[in-house]
Amino acid sequence: MIRFDLICENDHEFDSWFANNAAFDHQKQAGLVTCPYCDSEKVEKQLMVPSIPKKANNNHQPQAMLSANNDPAMKDLVENIRKMRQQVAENADDVGKDFAKEAREIHYEEKPARNIYGQATFDEARSLIEEGVEVMPLPSLPEEKN
Ligand SMILES: [Zn+2]
Repeated sequence: MIRFDLICENDHEFDSWFANNAAFDHQKQAGLVTCPYCDSEKVEKQLMVPSIPKKANNNHQPQAMLSANNDPAMKDLVENIRKMRQQVAENADDVGKDFAKEAREIHYEEKPARNIYGQATFDEARSLIEEGVEVMPLPSLPEEKN
């Protein structure tokens, strides 16, 4: 199951669970995904990280940061994120700011398939997702300050 953060045409935000990405697309096309506030069927996925600015009109907003003050559960979470990022770094190539371009070229088979990671703006990430390119935001660690 995946939880998607969704937003409707009237900017109502809500979330909903789906078996997978395809299930969401399927249910959306069938008009089964509706806004709980206004019943609109015009519902879009938001990116899966709450720190992403809700409005796309400022792509350079600082990301929300977390400070896990001695809470063991939060320490575990941070440790898991750290491990996940380490695995990504070991198993994927850092393409930096070319991420959107590289991801798109791989998606359209202009380049051989490989795992990549890098930076993308909110708009770039949204375009990729709309084109069906499988991307997801990497969680940031509290100590990372750009
Ligand atoms: Zn709504």
